[in-house]
Amino acid sequence: MTPLPSQAEIVIIGGGIIGCSTAYHLALAGAKDVILLERAQLTSGSTFHAAGLVGQLRSSRSITQLLSYSVDLYDSLEADTGLSTGWRRNGGLRLACNSERLVELQRAATTGRSFGLEIEILSPSEARALWPMMDVSDVVGAAFLPQDGQADPSDITQALARGARRHGVRIIQNCNVEGIDVRGGRVVGVHTSEGEILCEKVVNCAGQWARSIGEMAGVSVPLVSMQHQYVITEPIEGVTADLPTLRDPDRLIYFKEEVGGLVMGGYEPDPLSWGDTGIPEDFNGRLLQPDWDHFEQLFEQAVERVPAMEAVGIRKLINGPESFTPDGNFILGEAPEVRSFFVGAGFNAFGIAAAGGAGRALAEWILAGEPTSDLWPVDIRRFGAVHRDTDWVRSRTIEMYAKHYAMAWPHEEHASGRPRLRSPLYERLGAAGACFGSKLGWERANWFARTGEKPEDEYSFGRQNWFEAVGEEHRACRTSVALFDQSSFAKFVVDGPDAESALQWLCANDVGKPPGRLTYTQLLNDRGGIECDLTVSRLDEHRFYIVTGTGFRTRDHDWISRHLPAGSDVELSDVTEEHAVLALMGPRARLVLQHVTETDVSDAALPFANLTMLTIAGATVLALRVTYVGELGWELHVPRAAAGDVYDALMTAGRTYGMVNAGYRAIESLRLEKGYRAWGSDIGPDHTPLEAGLGWAVKLGRDIPFIGREAIAAQKVAGPPERLACFTVDDPDITLLGRETIYRDGRRVGWLTSGGWGYTLETNIGYGYVNRGGAAVDTEYLTSGDYELEVVTRRVHCALHLGALYDPEMSRVKA
Ligand SMILES: Cc1cc2nc3c(=O)[nH]c(=O)nc-3n(C[C@H](O)[C@H](O)[C@H](O)COP(=O)(O)OP(=O)(O)OC[C@H]3O[C@@H](n4cnc5c(N)ncnc54)[C@H](O)[C@@H]3O)c2cc1C
Repeated sequence: MTPLPSQAEIVIIGGGIIGCSTAYHLALAGAKDVILLERAQLTSGSTFHAAGLVGQLRSSRSITQLLSYSVDLYDSLEADTGLSTGWRRNGGLRLACNSERLVELQRAATTGRSFGLEIEILSPSEARALWPMMDVSDVVGAAFLPQDGQADPSDITQALARGARRHGVRIIQNCNVEGIDVRGGRVVGVHTSEGEILCEKVVNCAGQWARSIGEMAGVSVPLVSMQHQYVITEPIEGVTADLPTLRDPDRLIYFKEEVGGLVMGGYEPDPLSWGDTGIPEDFNGRLLQPDWDHFEQLFEQAVERVPAMEAVGIRKLINGPESFTPDGNFILGEAPEVRSFFVGAGFNAFGIAAAGGAGRALAEWILAGEPTSDLWPVDIRRFGAVHRDTDWVRSRTIEMYAKHYAMAWPHEEHASGRPRLRSPLYERLGAAGACFGSKLGWERANWFARTGEKPEDEYSFGRQNWFEAVGEEHRACRTSVALFDQSSFAKFVVDGPDAESALQWLCANDVGKPPGRLTYTQLLNDRGGIECDLTVSRLDEHRFYIVTGTGFRTRDHDWISRHLPAGSDVELSDVTEEHAVLALMGPRARLVLQHVTETDVSDAALPFANLTMLTIAGATVLALRVTYVGELGWELHVPRAAAGDVYDALMTAGRTYGMVNAGYRAIESLRLEKGYRAWGSDIGPDHTPLEAGLGWAVKLGRDIPFIGREAIAAQKVAGPPERLACFTVDDPDITLLGRETIYRDGRRVGWLTSGGWGYTLETNIGYGYVNRGGAAVDTEYLTSGDYELEVVTRRVHCALHLGALYDPEMSRVKA
């Protein structure tokens, strides 16, 4: 064994494909002092028993890009390292056996084109021409991705390891990491079976053991192990090496060629977890007991698809454990709990496909100290407190595993582990007909069933059953008044003598206003990209109150805490649970509010973007005059214990004015009309405020330094390379969901970041960035083109708009 060094800059734990890819990319990027520690031998975790299918298409562009990079890397890895990788770009075929699945494939084809992937929709006979031994009598169509492929997982890993070694990485096998030293909130070393290593950074690539490695440092890595099985058959006539991989989601199975036979695996609807009481430390180079009884349901499906399977000999049934996560995406990045502790784990049976891109992205993150592009769907900061509960994680992960090949419906909610976090109004809203969704564990009313309706979603790709009910909520908000429970908003307080200067450094907008004022602002990275999108209210000289989206609680807290200027006398605290939030919105909101409080809430006394404390039902309430729906309104931040009384008082007063309960689906429709951006879809780290049409919220005109200022100033001179625009399609039979491709004068120039129906304007509304092949995009360019959207593979004409569709003068908001 190579002697253990006493010191290193970066220690990677785990010699599976992810650890080796991360090591390889760190080394390629010039990292000099990297050690990889593997408890047993390289590839002896999940990697050696992977089936090796490599697909690329995901619903997020950044993840699709990572997977596409994997494919490019695998193209050249063999030549680079001199080791064979078994990599073949033989394409990937995906079948549809009913009309809804075909729509799903067509939508996926459009998404693929939006992201620049080649993807074709085939007829059943065209699909059969690519896969002659399959029966297509129940197939209605297929999608084909010619750039997909398959690889030998162990060989690819060995090639990555050789590449890493050549560039100076030390790989030490048979070395078990037994503890992690954390001092002052930062990693300082690891304890191993062979001794201690002092280090600056630790990278946890320990596969299904990553959760327990995380625990050694006090870091939550929410994954659990699931049993995953596939068979390998004897050779079958007609199975050739160039056969594409095949996914048959309606039968829950997949295939790939292997030595003239087939590998066939799948996702049972009743999946089995493994290692619930802990993963044995010595589970290396081992498999689980094959479970034919459980696998038989998939095998029967396979025989129907490929009749030759019935008679062919079975060489092996593999049952391997693999780590899965509660949302089906992997976990990447620096842990919010401990500085310099990075994670790359939880690959949900696509670790071979993801390894190239994930390893590179993680290496960049480690070296730069922050992600170099938008990785939000896989960012470790997307989790919250609920994910520390392994039982909760397991139940949601089992549900997601079972749904792996299920139809991915728009607006889909999941059922397991609910209800978990409840607003104090949960029972009241339930009694009022709320159909709840869940976000970061919080139950939130999506919509309210009307008399005779069941508060249950019925999914489809067209208008769903809640369409009319949400329309009523939307219109009530536009014409009278609606009450939204937004208690799950994340809320922070920044307190201390340096609070103003610290926040001015963090925020792109000028938050240094007098107490009583509220500011909408973005927090930017050095590239000018939007890391957070939130409101900052000044409570008094040294106290600021920050409100941000439910799902961004961990991430925004992490961003703010990391970027508070060193040495500043300021404290950041999370006060989310202290206050319920009732958003009272609509032209009659003032009448309702004035009814329940003695404080003057006229425009003169409390103009837009101001705040005050007032009393409702005996409770002291912080009223922020702000809106995300484009109407006169207030966010009322109510002490949790008083939420029921305040809600009741508002509902009683609201009766006279036609007030209704309304939910998150109405908010979405209202904000689309008003052109308010949503972080995570319309805006994020890869887009600047200038590109997003939010330049008005950047204090470039003031002589105040802030993060990202230089990048924004430079972009202002050069002009943004893309710009967010609004698109409308009046045809009510069309449903925009986001990711539809944008064409300008017949050329692909972007895709929709979000889409939906505007009930007041009676049109489909979408937002998307328009690019110009790298050149600056100006208004003249935007408005001079002729635009189409590709929706479900069909091109439709659309109108482009700049500025808000609804109330661009802000007269309603400022009423
Ligand atoms: C049956 C099956 C089929 C699959 N098919 C596919 C497929 O077709 N396509 C695809 O893309 N993916 C597939 N996968 C998924 C793929 O195998 C995994 O996602 C991938 O191998 C994960 O790699 P990893 O490096 O994260 O984990 P692992 O390969 O498990 O590596 C983790 C390593 O960490 C080491 N380690 C753990 N604890 C310590 C410690 N304390 N000290 C030192 N070292 C430690 C372990 O020994 C192990 O070698 C499949 C998985 C299974 C189970």
